[in-house]
Amino acid sequence: MNFVPAGEIIGAKHQVRSVRIGESPQLPDGEYTFIDMYCTDPRCDCRKTMIRVLHDGRFVSLINYGWENSDYYRRWMGDGALEALAPMTGASIDITSPDLVSRAGILGLFRALLNEQWKARFQSHYKLVKARVDDGRQEPGDASV
Ligand SMILES: [Zn+2]
Repeated sequence: MNFVPAGEIIGAKHQVRSVRIGESPQLPDGEYTFIDMYCTDPRCDCRKTMIRVLHDGRFVSLINYGWENSDYYRRWMGDGALEALAPMTGASIDITSPDLVSRAGILGLFRALLNEQWKARFQSHYKLVKARVDDGRQEPGDASV
């Protein structure tokens, strides 16, 4: 699957989320930016986002987040064993993450920030990206992760 940042496909409709934190027991102080990325295959209904996390502009972690329940992914993959091996529901650190900050720290921050509005924004970005690639107005990008 090829994931590209939502902003590259849907432009101004996309908003990146940034937070500034200080005195976290697990994470260095500074600004954390979350760039949500989506799969650009119009036939693929993976219903997830990959989130590139920047700390003061530097790429430090890569989060997988799937908003559907495990039944959905099990059906979608057609293989319960695979889903059990690498759960797609909820948030996890991707195996290709650079891991320059604590995994537990970044997952804790993500989960603390995750509210209904942010979740709804992921879902709407996903739909917009899929609609755009479906139209064929945008060639799938090359920014694989
Ligand atoms: Zn996909």
